[in-house]
Amino acid sequence: MSPPRHQPTPLRCWAEIDLAALERNLRLIRASLPAHIRYVAVVKADAYGHGLHQTAARLMHAGADLFAVANVTEAAALRELGPGWPILILSPLLPAEDSYLAEYDLAATVSSVEEVARFEAAGQAAGRTIAVHMKIDTGMGRLGVWHADAPGLCAQILAAPHLKLAGVFTHFSSPDEDPAFTAGQRRLFLTALDRCAGVNPADIFVHADNSSGLESMPGSSPFNAVRVGLLQFGILPHPNSMLAQVHTEPVFSFHTRVGLVKNLPAGTGISYGRTHLLRRDSRVAILCAGYGDGLPRAASNRGQVLIRGQRCPVLGRVTMDQTVVDVTDVPGVICGDEAVLVGRQLENEISIAEFSRSADTIPWETLCSVTKRVPRVYRTALGI
Ligand SMILES: *Cc1c(COP(=O)(O)O)cnc(C)c1O
Repeated sequence: MSPPRHQPTPLRCWAEIDLAALERNLRLIRASLPAHIRYVAVVKADAYGHGLHQTAARLMHAGADLFAVANVTEAAALRELGPGWPILILSPLLPAEDSYLAEYDLAATVSSVEEVARFEAAGQAAGRTIAVHMKIDTGMGRLGVWHADAPGLCAQILAAPHLKLAGVFTHFSSPDEDPAFTAGQRRLFLTALDRCAGVNPADIFVHADNSSGLESMPGSSPFNAVRVGLLQFGILPHPNSMLAQVHTEPVFSFHTRVGLVKNLPAGTGISYGRTHLLRRDSRVAILCAGYGDGLPRAASNRGQVLIRGQRCPVLGRVTMDQTVVDVTDVPGVICGDEAVLVGRQLENEISIAEFSRSADTIPWETLCSVTKRVPRVYRTALGI
């Protein structure tokens, strides 16, 4: 008998998003910071692949103070959730996007005199004030006004009748690898801020630290906000992070199923290019996931997955829809068994850091690489 038409087809490869863990993480990060520090939740790139609407709604509930997204399209999608939440756009706007600032009540990042003129014109055309955060380049060499020129740009913003300076910020280029350089960036920022006449830091958002920088966040300083992306999803930016003391939990896990199990004789070459030759008579499982789902091809012959709680190495190349793993030493594997690509299974765990290393990438990119084919399944239990 066939299943009723309205039932979704069974899951072959899916991501589970634990929204209760997300909420616990936000509260833990908050608790580890001085009470006056405001929480800027970074939810760009579909909330790092976790799903913008579900993630942002839960972060609103948990008490985020401001949301940061990459662009106008993401900001508009977030604004559909409701009015009132401050939203900051981190990337530069295209001129054709300027009018959306007023229409959707968005704050823009400003790095240049040209942007000041454009956004002032957009505010004037709409008959309302537009909030801006001035970004200062302290050595990242990407967005922001060069720190020496920041006071001049700030004066232009303050003189523009339809602009309101809502924040000043910078971005660290190597918070993980180079604490001395990061400290220098912090000093340059504070010097520039100090030279911005007419700005009271207590009246605006003053922010620099992302997940990686948090641990070096000075206690008494004009900084009064942090921009948290990766850490709220329970992922440490680097293994030796002092933030390991903040016991965040992974929000994301990645799952698939065994589609076929079979025995192959020693010497058989596996998958395209036959890059792995079986050294022994083997039992292999063919998984229902490949690079078409976000299991990177770079994990060929390197990655591992969990089946029945045991680690099973990837054999040969990852292909678009299938991946072959060795289950010779795992008794009882059958078609339909769950395979965990990232997450826990019984006593074992593959962290997103390990998964990313096995594919020569970083957790940020791993999360952004989970494709549209992969349904996100939300676990919404309160769990607080
Ligand atoms: C993405 C981003 C962040 C968040 O960084 P995480 O390392 O994920 O915490 C912070 N600030 C800016 C400007 C960003 O683009």
